[in-house]
Amino acid sequence: MVNAAKILSDQRKYFHTGATLSYEFRMEKLKQLKIMLKKYESELFQALKLDLNKSKHEAWTTELGFLHVEIDFAIKHLKQWMNIQRTNQPTTHIGSKSYIHKEPYGNIMIIAPWNYPIQLALAPVVGAIAAGNTVVIKPSEYAVETSKLLKEMIANTFEPKFMTVVQGAIEETEELLRVPFDYIFFTGSSTVGKLIMKKASEHLTPVTLELGGKSPVIVDRHANIKLAAKRIVWGKFTNAGQTCVAPDYLLVHEKVKKQLVRAMKKQVKQFYGKHPLKNKSYIRIVHDRHFQRLKGFLSDGQILYGGAVDAEKLMIEPTLLDQVDWNAPVMKEEIFGPILPIMTFHQLDHVIADLQSREKPLALYYFGRKKKQQQKIIKHTSFGGGCVNDTLYHLANPHLPFGGVGNSGIGAYHGKYGFETFSHSKSILKQNNLFDIPLRYPGGKLTYSIAKRLLS
Ligand code: NAD
Repeated sequence: MVNAAKILSDQRKYFHTGATLSYEFRMEKLKQLKIMLKKYESELFQALKLDLNKSKHEAWTTELGFLHVEIDFAIKHLKQWMNIQRTNQPTTHIGSKSYIHKEPYGNIMIIAPWNYPIQLALAPVVGAIAAGNTVVIKPSEYAVETSKLLKEMIANTFEPKFMTVVQGAIEETEELLRVPFDYIFFTGSSTVGKLIMKKASEHLTPVTLELGGKSPVIVDRHANIKLAAKRIVWGKFTNAGQTCVAPDYLLVHEKVKKQLVRAMKKQVKQFYGKHPLKNKSYIRIVHDRHFQRLKGFLSDGQILYGGAVDAEKLMIEPTLLDQVDWNAPVMKEEIFGPILPIMTFHQLDHVIADLQSREKPLALYYFGRKKKQQQKIIKHTSFGGGCVNDTLYHLANPHLPFGGVGNSGIGAYHGKYGFETFSHSKSILKQNNLFDIPLRYPGGKLTYSIAKRLLS
């Protein structure tokens, strides 16, 4: 059983020595993280292959390469992020100076899912280290090999009083949630996110919740169909659709549906071959329960393409599903697999009204050439983030915050936003002792009218 109280008390003691606070310490740890990823690269490729059948190319582009970019970005900007910021102030404060100090929260817990088990466990770590915290990582029990390796790598690289990995499932996570961490960063489903927030509220622990949802992709009649098909197929079937920001379903203008479907079919063949289930690099579904759930969705519409499954290998072909309506089970929850339901529209305004009536998704993708329509969709629908004429790519830009809104999450990270997430902004006013403006004190000679003029 996990001794959460001991883990936290060791990290708390260490944090209070002040060891994690200096620029030099943070920089050294970020560099060690990078060296660790290099050192264990081949073991990481192997673990990701065993857990999800990830090819080296996919493991690099969606996990390891991404992490190197995040670490390098933090190394480059750390000094500037850590700078104490001088602020402006009103005339009533003449004689004093005001500052914002970025203070580490202290002891952080990071809870990760299984779909990008390395990236989603370590990308928040980059922000947490940069901000000067200690870290406990709780990886997913479903990414068995990667979680084991994560524990080994971290134990061989960092002292447990600074950073440690606790393996386990619900019971272990609940044990960790009983003790008062200073911040909880959770990535996973909205259902579990609510439980985490409830538990965190007992200690008033702040949380970031990186959740999921049903992210739409919209293809308008003036879109570049060939490119849209390529980018949608890539975004949907990367990691076999087990991506939080994957397009969940497609809304296509009725005038271009035929053309788009034709182009998507061609594209699936180009990426995965005629028989994806025989493709050595095709990603598998993480476990049988999830596989059975996805298999059930295949009868919620008419299969236009794909639809074959391999129960032994836990694989489902990239599938295009037509004749789907909002009441079908596949449209009632996040799919999180390689099945793309297709629905049509004839007016963008109807799409907007429809999206406004649903939960706010983590992402939204709009394909269309007209600026006015692009702006309309961005302005009138709420979602975590997204792309115009692309899918997924926004999340790989370290200059952009990544996070959800409403049902898709609270808070954001990546790049500077990761540093900000794990830092408390402490406001400090430094007063002078040479003079003292009497305005605020009672019993002075200043009249109410002067005070009112200056203080309003
Ligand atoms: P999950 O919510 O089932 O599990 C996430 C983590 O929570 C795991 O570490 C798990 O051990 C732990 N957990 C599960 N049940 C728990 C409970 N009752 N109490 C305490 N801890 C518990 O999510 P998952 O299946 O691993 O991942 C899929 C979900 O995550 C999808 O909804 C997806 O959209 C979302 N996701 C979001 C992002 C993002 O960045 N926003 C990224 C990846 C996945």
